[in-house]
Amino acid sequence: MPVWICATCGNHYAAAESPPAACVICTDERQWVPPSGQRWTTLDGLRAAGHRSLVRELEPDLIGIGADPPVAIGQRGLLVRTPEGNLLWDPPGFLDQAAIEAVRDAGGLAAVTASHPHFYGSIVEWSRAFDAVILLPEADAHWLTRPSPSVRTWSGTLPVLPGLTLIQCGGHFPGSACAHWAAGAGGGGALLTGDTIFVTPGEDRVTFVWSAPNRLPLPERAVRAVVEAVQPFPFDRIYGGWWEPVLRGDAKRVLESSARRYIEFLRGNAGGTGLPAGPGR
Ligand SMILES: [Zn+2]
Ligand SMILES: [Zn+2]
Repeated sequence: MPVWICATCGNHYAAAESPPAACVICTDERQWVPPSGQRWTTLDGLRAAGHRSLVRELEPDLIGIGADPPVAIGQRGLLVRTPEGNLLWDPPGFLDQAAIEAVRDAGGLAAVTASHPHFYGSIVEWSRAFDAVILLPEADAHWLTRPSPSVRTWSGTLPVLPGLTLIQCGGHFPGSACAHWAAGAGGGGALLTGDTIFVTPGEDRVTFVWSAPNRLPLPERAVRAVVEAVQPFPFDRIYGGWWEPVLRGDAKRVLESSARRYIEFLRGNAGGTGLPAGPGR
């Protein structure tokens, strides 16, 4: 029986003769269902369609794992290496033997986790390949669409490995998280953020969303909560959910100035009113 994969979000479902009627991730207001209807695939189907894993070192001890061509939302995972084991973050829905071999060559896998449920992807498949623990925020664990006995839940902050801490930020989902990697960016610290903090195309700003595809913003108190959650941690760089963009330097200052600007817009104090000029305006 195949493991069914939602073609739109890349999340895996329990092995079954036939796929579920709907994807619970995609019918939620933060995601979307194609106008032509729900589509399902499998790892074999994706391989047959020509998808292959793409593995690339991004900086020392940080390896990106994506798919070429990209699958579903198209996130690339991040493998962080530490002397006491490795963490995989935001794995895409697709994986193949080449990706597993690359992780084995990098020292294997102690734990696998994700920024939020849209990126749970192949998390269970990775856990099974390495007998790795799956770390999910208590608040979002019910979104995991393929049950696994390897799930451990957490909340607040969780030191996972030396110099590697999961931080619950909320916002996009109540359990939306960042991973803080102290050795990243040459020792200045890096944040792995997925959809919790979005890096913008110019690599000079960040933004926040409740739904990216449906263009729904976060309320002010949620934006403030994200900034406050990461405030105690030093970081110079932010890796979002895709190969690019990356906020390569001065990331803490950019996060704070971007949040201030975002809140000015929410309050209607920036960017003009957008109203046409005319009588009574
Ligand atoms: Zn889906
Ligand atoms: Zn998302």
